[in-house]
Amino acid sequence: MIYVRILVSLLVLYLLYRLIRRFLLRRETGYLPGRRRNGEELVQDPQCGTYIPISDARELELNGVKVYFCSRECMEKYIIKA
Ligand SMILES: [Zn+2]
Repeated sequence: MIYVRILVSLLVLYLLYRLIRRFLLRRETGYLPGRRRNGEELVQDPQCGTYIPISDARELELNGVKVYFCSRECMEKYIIKA
C-alpha cells in the first residue's frame, strides 16, 4: 500500500502547486493596466506603435489632429521628426 500513499501525496502536492500558481498569476495580472480599465479606449503611439489606454497617454495636438504617445520620449522624438 506504499504506492497508494505516494500517489496520494503526489496528487496533494500537485494540487497545492496549482493553487499557489493560480494565486500568484492572479496577483500578477491584477497589476496589469488592461485588467483594471476594461472597455477603455486604446490609442496607438505613432512613434513606437504601442497601444496605450487613453488615460495613460500623453496628448499632443499637431495641426488640429490629436496624437497620443506612451511616453514623453516618444512625443519628443515624434516632434523632432515632424
Ligand atoms: Zn511610445
